[in-house]
Amino acid sequence: MPRVVVVGAGISGLATAYALQKRIPSAEILPLESESRIGGTIWSERRDGFLVEHGPNGFLDTKPSTVQLCRDLELDDALLPAGPAARHRYLFHNDRLVRLPEGIWSFLTTPLLSWRSKWAVLTERFRPPRMEDADESVHDFFRRRTTEEIAETLADALVTGIHAGDPKMLSMAAAFPRLAALEKEHGSLLRGMKHLARERRRLARETRRPPSSGSRILSFRDGLRKLIEVLQSKLKTPPLVGATVKRVFPNETGQWSVEGQGRDRWAADAVILACPAYRQAEIVADLDPELADLLRGIAYAPAIVVALGYRREDVPHSLDGFGHIVPQRHRADLLGSQWCSSIFPDRAAPGCVLLRAICGGWHRKDIAAWDDNRLLEAVRQHYRHALGIEKPPVFHQIVRWPLGIPQYHLGHVERVHRIEKCTAKHRGLFLTGNALHGVAMNDCTEQAEITAGRVAAYLAGADR
Ligand SMILES: Cc1cc2nc3c(=O)[nH]c(=O)nc-3n(C[C@H](O)[C@H](O)[C@H](O)COP(=O)(O)OP(=O)(O)OC[C@H]3O[C@@H](n4cnc5c(N)ncnc54)[C@H](O)[C@@H]3O)c2cc1C
Repeated sequence: MPRVVVVGAGISGLATAYALQKRIPSAEILPLESESRIGGTIWSERRDGFLVEHGPNGFLDTKPSTVQLCRDLELDDALLPAGPAARHRYLFHNDRLVRLPEGIWSFLTTPLLSWRSKWAVLTERFRPPRMEDADESVHDFFRRRTTEEIAETLADALVTGIHAGDPKMLSMAAAFPRLAALEKEHGSLLRGMKHLARERRRLARETRRPPSSGSRILSFRDGLRKLIEVLQSKLKTPPLVGATVKRVFPNETGQWSVEGQGRDRWAADAVILACPAYRQAEIVADLDPELADLLRGIAYAPAIVVALGYRREDVPHSLDGFGHIVPQRHRADLLGSQWCSSIFPDRAAPGCVLLRAICGGWHRKDIAAWDDNRLLEAVRQHYRHALGIEKPPVFHQIVRWPLGIPQYHLGHVERVHRIEKCTAKHRGLFLTGNALHGVAMNDCTEQAEITAGRVAAYLAGADR
C-alpha cells in the first residue's frame, strides 16, 4: 500500500489528494496542514447575517476542472450561478464609475476609450501576429495588438482584477496563456474569440444544451467553504491540521522522510508540495538549493479583504453589477470592490448589502501594514466618492493575506520549466499549487488532476 504525504490542505492539496485517491484507492494519502483549519485562502464565514468569503468569491466555468470536481463530489446540484447583475462590471475612471462595454453598441459609445482605440479594436484582426517567441509583458501585448490607451485601461483592469499585479511586469504567456495562444493560433485575438464562440455554439447544438456564455461565475449557497468541506469528507484519511512541514529528504530505505516541527516525522513513497512557492522553497532548501532559489524568486502581492455591510437605504448606488475595479496605475488604496449581495443571494442580512473591497496589490504593499482603522477609513473614503455612501457600515470584517497572490513576472514560463527540471531529479517529489500554472481555482483543480496522474504513474512503477 503506497503512502503519500501532501503538504498543504488548500484547494490544490485537497483536490490532488482526492484525485490520487480515485486513481489508487488503496493508497494511504495524508494531507498535512500548518494552520488550524483547512482550505488555505478559501473559506467562508457567516456572522451577523453576512456571509464573507475570506478569499475567492467564486470560480468561472471557462475551464471544466472545478465544475467536473463538483460533479465527482455530487455537488453539482448545489452549484449556485451568479445572478444576472453580475454580468455588469464597472471601472473607476476619471473619478467616477463607468460600466465596461458588454456588446458592440456599448463598446462604440463607451467614454472609456477614444475613437482611435475603438478603431484599433475593430481592426485588430488585420494586425499581423508577432513572430518572436521572447516573453512579452501584458501591457506590451495589448499595446501592440491595440493601443497604449487600451493597455492602460482595459488590460490594467484585467490584471488588477485577477493578479493584483503590474501589467508591465506580468508575462502575457504565463498570466494569460489562453489569450496569448489565440493570437498564435488564429493570428488575432478577435478572430480567436469568434472561433471560440462558434465552437461553444457547435457544442451546444451537439449536446442539445443552451450555449454557455463561457464565463458564468459559480459558488454555493453557503459559500466556497462547501467545496472544501465536502472534499475533506471524501478523503479516506482526513487532513492533519497544525502540522507544519519543515523539510523533506530521501532516506536510506528509498522512501521520503517528511519532517515537521519537533519530533513529527512521516515516511512516504511520494511527497506532493501543495503549499505556496516561498514555503516550498523553505522545505527543499537543504535538498536542492537551486530549486529553492527558483521557487523563492516567485514574488507575491498582498491582498486584504475589507468586507463592509450597509443598510440598503444608506447606499445611493444601484449596485447593479459584479463590482468595480480601480486600475493599479492610480496607485489607489483599493484595487476594487465586489458587490457580493448583488452577485449571490443571502450574502447580507435582511435589508442590507455586502461589499467586499480588495486592498493592496503589487504597487501598494505598504497597505499590508495598515491597522484596521486606517483600512476601514480608506475604504469608506473611496465608497463615499465612488458610490456616494456617507453613512457608516453596520458590519465589517477584515481578512489579511500578506502574501496573497503569486506574480507571474516576465520569465515565469522559463522559471517554471527550470523548476520542473530540478524537481524531476528527485524521484517521488512533486510540486503543485497556484504558483506555477495559474492562480485561479480552476487552474489549481486542473493542476491537481495532472499532478495526481503523474504521482499515480510514478507509484505504479511506470515512472520509477
Ligand atoms: C483575496 C483573494 C481573492 C481571490 N479571488 C479569487 C476568485 O474570485 N476566483 C478564483 O478562481 N481565484 C481567486 N483567488 C485565487 C485562489 O483563491 C487561489 O489561487 C487558490 O485558492 C490557491 O489554492 P492553493 O491550495 O494552491 O494555495 P493556498 O490556498 O495558499 O493553500 C496552501 C495551504 O498550504 C498550507 N501550508 C503552507 N506552508 C505549509 C507547511 N510548511 N506545511 C503544511 N502546510 C503548509 C497553508 O496554510 C495553506 O492552507 C483569490 C485569492 C485571494 C488571496
